[in-house]
Amino acid sequence: MSPNAPETAADRLADIKARMERAARRIEGGDVAELVAVSKTFDAEAIVPVIEAGQRHFGENRVQEAQGKWPGLKSEYPDLVLHLIGPLQTNKAADAVALFDVIESVDRDKLARILATEMDKQNRRLPCFVQVNIGGEEQKAGVSTAETVEFVDRCRDQYGLDIVGLMCIPPIDEAPGPYFAQLARLARAAGVSRLSMGMSADFEVAILMGATQVRVGSALFGAR
Ligand SMILES: *Cc1c(COP(=O)(O)O)cnc(C)c1O
Repeated sequence: MSPNAPETAADRLADIKARMERAARRIEGGDVAELVAVSKTFDAEAIVPVIEAGQRHFGENRVQEAQGKWPGLKSEYPDLVLHLIGPLQTNKAADAVALFDVIESVDRDKLARILATEMDKQNRRLPCFVQVNIGGEEQKAGVSTAETVEFVDRCRDQYGLDIVGLMCIPPIDEAPGPYFAQLARLARAAGVSRLSMGMSADFEVAILMGATQVRVGSALFGAR
């Protein structure tokens, strides 16, 4: 982090929120996006000051890691909203449904079907995002851009999931703007309204392209 970066978690949170608001003001009717604070690799001790500073949405990418720190925090702060933002194995679906409040990484039929069954069983109908492999990268999770609209339709009509939006992680070494714009187009085509896109390095660009939530980790918690 640069020497003049804000020092406390609360300062960094305020700084990120101010940057998000400035970005939102640059677009017409721009609602301020929701900040999802990505706390992966950080423990409860690092997370509590951010909660105390008013942050309520948090993101984790591993079910098992999240199980180690969030049940306690959630009972202490009942209004927290926990987002699963990493790939989900079907054998962890039951645990994920029990712990998380939003699933952002629905990316294949088998997972969609098992999630829907688990949600019925646990009587927890969670809002879900379909993850799109927006750069068509072999190593990345997500449905292809060509399959996105049909997959969203199947998730809703066939499996009964509550798909509220699309999520993406653009290729790391390219300008993200065009990818964010494409995710926004796909969301319109699929008839979903929410866009989870933008991380520490590019959340302002994502907001300019219509992000309704950004996922910010290192800019808030520090380097991992
Ligand atoms: C780690 C992670 C983030 C946050 O990345 P930063 O660059 O630290 O802000 C966002 N989204 C996903 C899916 C992640 O795994």
